[in-house]
Amino acid sequence: MNAKQAQQKLINGNQRFVNNQSLRSDFAPKQDFVKPQKPFAVVLGCSDSRVPIETIFDQSFGDLFIIRIAGNIVAPSQIGSVEFAVSLFQTPLVIVLGHTHCGAVSAAIDAHIKQDDISSGVHSIVKRIEPIVDKLADKNYEHSDLVCRVADANIRQSVQQLQDSSAIINTAIAEHKLKIVGAKYILKTGEVTFFEPE
Ligand SMILES: [Zn+2]
Repeated sequence: MNAKQAQQKLINGNQRFVNNQSLRSDFAPKQDFVKPQKPFAVVLGCSDSRVPIETIFDQSFGDLFIIRIAGNIVAPSQIGSVEFAVSLFQTPLVIVLGHTHCGAVSAAIDAHIKQDDISSGVHSIVKRIEPIVDKLADKNYEHSDLVCRVADANIRQSVQQLQDSSAIINTAIAEHKLKIVGAKYILKTGEVTFFEPE
């Protein structure tokens, strides 16, 4: 499977989810779960409980290699996880999946406005979104518009960081074995919209 086919599979699965036509109903353990995995896509998504990634793409066991972290940010361990999937399973597609109403994005905006005291753990996430907030905060956007713009820019930033921070990922892209695409899940409708490459 190539990146285009993998992306189409996710688009089709999300369409089934939106239409309440899921093909997945049998989640009982099976003997063949132990056979080697060959996930067709890596998803770097937010930890938000309202964004269950297999469900919104209507996929099942063995289909998706999922990395979840609040704010779908890129830190060294996320890069390592992507490298792991790309080199071991030759997964052709990486999706950075953000979403509307993201709490991590709101936290980064709040930290910018209020300069609140936050824990070092939370700061390690928020600090990766804050430079985007710094750039957009003085443009007088309405708060909800600002949240949306920061979320979108944060998705694009994570795509860029994955592309730029790893020789393994970089080489796979140069050899046309890997594509990294940004996408956004809309909580209200269940739809995932894929970003055009810049
Ligand atoms: Zn989120």
